[in-house]
Order: sequence, then C-alpha cells, then structure tokens
Amino acid sequence: MVVSYNHTHEIENAYQTALAQYDRAVHKLELDENTAEYMRWPRREFTVNFPVRRDDGRIEMFTGYRVHHNTILGPSKGGIRYSTAVTLDEVRALAMWMTWKCALVNLPYGGAKGGVIVDPKTMSQTELERLTRRYTSELIPLISPHSDIPAPDMGTNAQTMAWIMDTYSMTVGYSVPAIVTGKPINIGGSLGRNEATGRGVIVCMMEALKRQGMANQRIRIAIQGFGNVGSNAALYAYEQGFDVVAVSDVVGGIYNENGLDIPAVEEHYKANKGLTNFPGSQNITNEELLLIDCDVLIPAAMEGQITERNASQVKAKMIIEGANGPTTTEADDILNERGVFIVPDVLANSGGVIVSYFEWVQDIQSFFWDVEEVYRQLERIMIKAYDATAQMAENKNTDMRTAAQMVAIRRVADALNTRGFYP
Ligand code: NAD
Repeated sequence: MVVSYNHTHEIENAYQTALAQYDRAVHKLELDENTAEYMRWPRREFTVNFPVRRDDGRIEMFTGYRVHHNTILGPSKGGIRYSTAVTLDEVRALAMWMTWKCALVNLPYGGAKGGVIVDPKTMSQTELERLTRRYTSELIPLISPHSDIPAPDMGTNAQTMAWIMDTYSMTVGYSVPAIVTGKPINIGGSLGRNEATGRGVIVCMMEALKRQGMANQRIRIAIQGFGNVGSNAALYAYEQGFDVVAVSDVVGGIYNENGLDIPAVEEHYKANKGLTNFPGSQNITNEELLLIDCDVLIPAAMEGQITERNASQVKAKMIIEGANGPTTTEADDILNERGVFIVPDVLANSGGVIVSYFEWVQDIQSFFWDVEEVYRQLERIMIKAYDATAQMAENKNTDMRTAAQMVAIRRVADALNTRGFYP
C-alpha cells in the first residue's frame, strides 16, 4: 500500500519503512554522522515518460523509473518491476534494500531498482515487447554490464530480460549477455536462476529451524504469492518433506491442514490461471492466509502485507520474508515483542541476486556452470550470510533484521571510508 508522507496514522509506504529500518540499524552501529547521512540517500533517480503503440494503433504514454541507490561496492544491481502500484518512493525503497542485500551476501555490487507503471496483464505480448524495448532504450545512459545490470521482479520475467538484452545489443552493435540477469538459458542465462530465490528462501528457513531448535518437528508452512518466489519456495519445501498447508495469489488462496500436493497445485494453477477450487482444499482469502494456523509464514508477494492491523493476529512462530519489505516497522515491533522469529528479506530472498551474480560472472567469462555447482555455491553464500547476521544479532542483542542491516551498512561504510568522499 502506498500512502502520502503526511498521514501518520496510515500504513507507512515502502520508502518510509526502508528509512526507518536504516535509522534503527545506524543508531545501533554508532556510525559517524557524515557516513550515515551520505548512505541514506539514493545516488541517482531517473524518470522517463515514453510512448508505446498499442495494437489498435493508439499511442499511450507510460512512466518508468530507475534508481541507483549506492554504488560504492560496484556496479548497481536490481530488478525491474511492472505494476500499477509502482511509485518513485517504492523504487527508492527497493533500490536501498538491494544495496544492503548485495553487501550482506558480499557481492561486488551496489543497489538499484527500476519500475514501469503498467499492468502487464492488460497488454498483449507485442505491446509488452514494444514497452520493454522503449523503456530499455530510455535507460541506455544508465545501464551496462559495468555500471548497472537489471533483472526480473514482479510483473517481469525471462522473456522481458531477453528483450532488454536484445535492445541493448542492437544499440551497441554486438551481443552483450551480461547486460541483464534472469535471461533464458539459450541466450546466456544461468541454470538454477529461475528457482534461486524460492529455493534460497527454503535454505534460509531450514537454517533458521535448525538454529531455533525446531528442526525435528512437523512444520506447517503458509505462503503468500504464487509467482516466481512463492511457487518455487512451495515446490522446494514440498520436495524437502515440509507440509505446505496454504498458498495464495492476488485473487485468493487455498488451504489444506494436512498439506497441499504442490506439483498438483502447479498443474491446477496453469490449467485454471488461479488457485481457487483446488480439489481437496478450502478456499481462503489473502488476509486469512496471513493469519492461518501454521509454524512458518512466507510472505512472497509484495511489500506492506504484515502491518500494525494484523501483526498481533499472526499465528506463525517464524516469518521468512520471500518478498521485499512485506513487514512494516510497526508490525516488526509487534512481532518482535510477541517473540515471532523473523528472517528478513535482505537475507531470506538474497538467493535471486546471488545466482544473478553467478549468471553475470558466467556471461563475462563465457564459461557456464552445471546446476549442482550453482546450488552448492548458493547455499554456501547464504549460510555464511545467515551466520554473520546471527552473530551480529547475538553480539548486539538485537533482532535479525536490524542485525542484517548492520552487517551490510558496516561493509558499505567501511568501503566508503577506504575510498574517501569524492572530491
Ligand atoms: P511475481 O510477479 O512472479 O509473483 C507475485 C505474486 O504475488 C503473484 O502470485 C501475484 O498474484 C501475487 N500478488 C500480487 N499482488 C498481491 C497482493 N496484493 N496480495 C497477494 N498476492 C499478491 O513476482 P516475484 O518475482 O515472485 O516477486 C515477489 C516478491 O519477491 C516481490 O516483493 C519481489 O520484489 C521479491 N523478490 C523477487 C525476486 C526474484 O528473483 N523474482 C528476488 C528477490 C525478491
């Protein structure tokens, strides 16, 4: 939900959440004022208004953004979102979270994000292709394999990345696979990238269960969102023997207290373009999913879902954030107070950017890995980042979110101070 700055009784918007989290972490870190102030700001914000020809010949104007939050550690990295809820503030928040996420998992990247205000479901493939190609050419001054590397996010997918790669390559005159990640495999994509975020969410959940002493009991999982992250998390959890009791998408969800047959749910979803009325399950609303009786809740749809309005009724003992920013600051406080263990987005969904990094490395080297290598390196990096976060949480007696941001902010701050303030 996006609201204006002035309505303090309304739910905060994503950028307000991101800034509040930052201030909290910086306060605990006792960073010097100059460094703290510098890192609070996005470095560049780019707004483009551009025309797209609809299939019936009409020309329609669209607005898109690309924000580079921080580039101290390397070229900026971040997804592109197509949604009617896109705002500059949302893109700023997502770019800032990318800075912390990349730093937390030790990738040589800064943070970026892009978005176009559009409902992709209302466009044909040819319209989406024209929109993507025009948005890409508007971004040419900003993007390159050495400066800013986009990837998919909500409403975009591997095909979108293929169009971006082709548009960029046609502009420079030769093929540049490393300009985007999350591409189809046949044009330089990485094995395992499609599944990476959802799989990483479950890797994180298993680590959390082990460390919280919950590894040897029956675990019931509820997942909000059945897109790239949610469906892959559901499938990997199912394959690992967990009971996925509820899943949902924007329309609504389904529940079976004994666990859903996820491969069958996938078939049903494809055939019916929705989850509802899956045989042997009960239809539920999205709000009901968040409050359902389960052990682990995985929000994997969008930001601002767990708020002060519903946080006190969440029954899960653990929340693993597949989505970016699903929990507002007020909700965070309520959940922490109630002892709900939260693995924050910057850690839990970092599998996507980690395998994006592998894809970029493979493209630059023109040397491709097998999927076992991708998964092995993914787990190694995620567990190392989990460990750094858990250690910070213990040493500073704080929650996992603040700890993860502290680890990340400290790394960027150290690099900034080594490089110095320009000029
Ligand atoms: P997607 O477009 O593939 O799927 C989004 C899902 O959320 C769909 O099932 C949609 O129906 C559902 N949804 C949309 N609006 C909703 C609402 N208001 N209530 C409930 N459900 C809703 O997107 P995705 O790539 O799976 O991304 C999901 C989240 O994960 C986003 O917050 C994104 O930023 C984050 N994320 C994605 C990746 C990635 O690699 N794709 C990586 C890191 C983080």
